[in-house]
Amino acid sequence: MFTDKESFKQAYLSKVIEGDGTTVDEATQWDKFVALVALLKEKMSHHRSTNKKSMSQGKQVYYFSMEFLIGKLLHNYLVNFKLEEFIREGLLELNINLDDLLEQEVDPGLGNGGLGRLAACFLDSMAFLGIEGHGNGIRYKYGLFEQKIMGGNQVEVADNWLKNGYPWEMRKPDKAVVIKFKGTVRTELNEGKISFLHENYESVLAVPYDVPIMSYDNPLYINNLRLWSAETICGDLDLACFNRGEYKQSISNKSEVESISYILYPDDSSPAGRELRLKQEYFFVAAGLGSIVRSYKKRNGSGSLHNFSRRVSVHINDTHPVLCIPELMRILMDEEEMGWDEAWNITVNTVSFTNHTIMPEAMEKWSIDLIKSLLPRILQIIEEIDRRFKEDLIARFMDEDEVIRNTQIFKDGYIWMAHLAIIGSSSVNGVAQLHTKILKNEVFKDYYRVFGYKFNNKTNGVNHRRFLLAANPKLSHLITEAIGPYWKEEAGELKKLLVYKDDHSFLEQLAYVKYENKCRFAEVVKHKQGLLIDPQSIFDVQVKRIHAYKRQLLNVLKIMHLYNEAMNDPESLTGSHTFIFGGKAAPNYHYAKIVIKLIHALSQKIEHDPRVNQKLKVVFIENFNVSQGELIYPAADISEQISSASKEASGTGNMKFMMNGALTLGTLDGANVEIKEAVGEDNIFIFGLTAEKVLDYTRNGGYKSWDEYHVNSDIRTCVDQLNCGFFDNMGEEFRVLFDSLMIYNDEFFILKDFHSYLEMHDKLQTLYRNKKEWNRISLVNIATSGRFSSDRTIREYADWIWKIRYRTVNKGINSH
Ligand SMILES: *Cc1c(COP(=O)(O)O)cnc(C)c1O
Repeated sequence: MFTDKESFKQAYLSKVIEGDGTTVDEATQWDKFVALVALLKEKMSHHRSTNKKSMSQGKQVYYFSMEFLIGKLLHNYLVNFKLEEFIREGLLELNINLDDLLEQEVDPGLGNGGLGRLAACFLDSMAFLGIEGHGNGIRYKYGLFEQKIMGGNQVEVADNWLKNGYPWEMRKPDKAVVIKFKGTVRTELNEGKISFLHENYESVLAVPYDVPIMSYDNPLYINNLRLWSAETICGDLDLACFNRGEYKQSISNKSEVESISYILYPDDSSPAGRELRLKQEYFFVAAGLGSIVRSYKKRNGSGSLHNFSRRVSVHINDTHPVLCIPELMRILMDEEEMGWDEAWNITVNTVSFTNHTIMPEAMEKWSIDLIKSLLPRILQIIEEIDRRFKEDLIARFMDEDEVIRNTQIFKDGYIWMAHLAIIGSSSVNGVAQLHTKILKNEVFKDYYRVFGYKFNNKTNGVNHRRFLLAANPKLSHLITEAIGPYWKEEAGELKKLLVYKDDHSFLEQLAYVKYENKCRFAEVVKHKQGLLIDPQSIFDVQVKRIHAYKRQLLNVLKIMHLYNEAMNDPESLTGSHTFIFGGKAAPNYHYAKIVIKLIHALSQKIEHDPRVNQKLKVVFIENFNVSQGELIYPAADISEQISSASKEASGTGNMKFMMNGALTLGTLDGANVEIKEAVGEDNIFIFGLTAEKVLDYTRNGGYKSWDEYHVNSDIRTCVDQLNCGFFDNMGEEFRVLFDSLMIYNDEFFILKDFHSYLEMHDKLQTLYRNKKEWNRISLVNIATSGRFSSDRTIREYADWIWKIRYRTVNKGINSH
């Protein structure tokens, strides 16, 4: 196995020939990329096999998630293995630019936003901490979609990310699992024991594809992300069917089966779409648990599963994998012949659950009829869980109808998945302190009375090795020069940077790094979208999924206001501003698509107005994804975290910006509250209603958007501009936004928060002129961001939820 530049070059040359039979000079960039990946994979499995004996045989954690937004892997793995430098040099001596090869990799279409990215950060931290923690998900053939902008509109193009193949994955056909859908359940009485026989079902083969997860400087722990793909049982075609001449039938069976892992988020506005989504959920749950039980038996002897919950933790990321609960019950009872009570004990003690949202429309529920036809045995088990739960509950809360009513799994013909998750797991966590408080006191307050001991908080974190060390090499270098390299292992070490907060020369270097990152980003925008942005201007950035509660509209109204002000008084604008937006709108979410259109209309309006176009600029970054994020977060001056308080469970973008020295302009929502605690109130720019006030308005009324409109001429001007031909060639386009504010009473308090938002933005605008003070605050943000590393989050999960040990990292020689 290669260990230095020379042996690498040798190994690489033979890898290229092996791959394609061509020499390096003839090989395509793709071939050269694939060869490098193959070589790294070999190096990893070499590490793994030589170190097998030292691998622990402790508890295994399985993280079930519908999404893993992992981003590109090659660069991170080179950084993690500390190989980048000599591989870059070695390749250069072969006339190959490493950056060209890195360009070849595509972002896997395996997630769509914060939830999927969190799962990916957790995989890294588990591997780093030496936890045997594996991901379990779906190998979607197509991702959400690739976003293109045409004429200011979002256009969705199929995200065919697997088109050239994915060299990191390894297909494991011998580890396939058979999944059963539909059919009937027959009960049989044998010697006083009832057994349940699932018959006339349709089988689907789940075939795993494994992706190796390796973290920083820890080659002993290479974990596994197992992604399941749906195939027909008998290989390519139903041959019997085919031979009978029923060609169409046999091909349509095949495509029906394969549709299960065809695409992330099938459009669920039709009944057929909903059925497919439910199939996906059961598919990866049943496949995952099937393979976990199989490997458990291999590790622990093929005896019984009595000790299962001591050796296995199954964590479910939101409710999408909640069928883990009835499915594990099914395995333990129907296949392992356990009684209900023992199976229930094991299940509850194995499963833990993270809740991600309090938005009522995002609470998952499934029609009973659908579950009945698709998963008849699972429905029986859920019914029995419900029956027993109610029995206990009535004994405890006899006179409290409300508790009993609000904790039902079955309601109005639907099964409430969050309720099943709370009842069937040992831990229920929120993702930031504020969010957990709202879960306990509002959303699940009755469950909190029943199961108070299950509720806990685990504030989210992000992988600081991806979003700082790898994504921002210049800043990383500066940090390491100042405080040594140990922060890479222990993000809390960043605190040591605080001694530089009044060091003039250090602060100037910090500012210069920011400037270089802005130039890097500007280059990419120019190259990809042909847009020119000025790296000397303030980069004011809001990148995240487009959603009403995230209030991109508030940001747009602010820019419209700045424009209006500049028309009246050209001196009102100080400095030059680049407002950067990015994010996808769900394909059937009309409001969000119109917000994208508005951003583009405003961008055009400003661009064509010579009175302001030197001072204001609005750009929309196409197809925001992890790779784009890795360029944008390090380049931002201002981080816009402006959700309507109480609505953003945690946010993780806020943490990535902070780590890279952006100043937060935000509401007291999600983890912003804890960012404020960490950084100190003078170093964050908070505005708007508190969560308490928002919840109070929502419950008791008392807010009228018309009042804000009438009292306030600034607001009136901007709001009217949505509706009066202010934007060229726009008919009734923005009427839906106007209506959301004025007819539907501004559900997210945009007008209510407008002025305090403007005030804080103005304060930042002024502060930006005081370079020294700005840089000091930027440094304090970086220095205090350590607690938002997902290493901290995963240590908390390990200590309190999974009850599992992890490695402690030795302090580097540079620390005391
Ligand atoms: C971090 C991240 C998100 C989450 O951003 P929020 O601001 O927390 O909503 C979404 N998408 C991508 C690609 C990310 O990297």
